[in-house]
Amino acid sequence: MTPSLPRVRVLFDESAIAQRNEEIARAIASQPLENLLVVAVLKGSFMFAADLIRALHRAGLAPQVEFIHLSSYRAATVSSGQVAILRDVESEVRGRDVLLIDDILESGRTLVYAKDLLMARGARRVLTTVLLEKPGKRAVTMDADYVGFTCPDVFVVGYGMDVAHAFRQLPFVGLVDYGDGEPDLFDTGSDGTAIA
Ligand code: 5GP
Ligand code: MG
Ligand code: MG
Repeated sequence: MTPSLPRVRVLFDESAIAQRNEEIARAIASQPLENLLVVAVLKGSFMFAADLIRALHRAGLAPQVEFIHLSSYRAATVSSGQVAILRDVESEVRGRDVLLIDDILESGRTLVYAKDLLMARGARRVLTTVLLEKPGKRAVTMDADYVGFTCPDVFVVGYGMDVAHAFRQLPFVGLVDYGDGEPDLFDTGSDGTAIA
């Protein structure tokens, strides 16, 4: 038996995410892009990246796909500001148009770090896209070129994003309900399956 997990309240559901991914992909594909390299920031963006890359295909693009695993040191759920490379991209970046994909833009440090790194390696242009943006949380100047949704200033999980390694598998973005509120129609069961 799987140990029981707290319930998760849906914030952005599967169909809203899918629709937004198509819109973002079409907006990206309307740019003049050369020799496009997609760089997904692990781990949190893996599901967004997988869906967005397929939407890019439907929009007519055929990017090369790479991954970079970055860690922003965190105390609990508060970003401390340091970024480390846990796994680097393998492909040549010089002279290429790069689309950087991340899950959430919060302080901006992760995305600034990744963008600066790719520019320093000679990328011709680095476009950035994030599924979620938390406004009012920026510690450095950074705006993503394409944002899925504006997110309230709460800790979210699902659709690739975790808390203590849990909830990445959920097909939607939600809030962990630790039992201080009544479950509602949008809550999921203890195994993460929808009970609505
Ligand atoms: P930043 O460097 O912009 O402060 O932080 C961005 C990173 O922090 C994201 O890529 C993500 O990994 C993590 N993060 C920020 N807010 C949340 C959140 O609400 N939930 C989860 N699971 N991760 C978050
Ligand atoms: Mg991240
Ligand atoms: Mg995390």
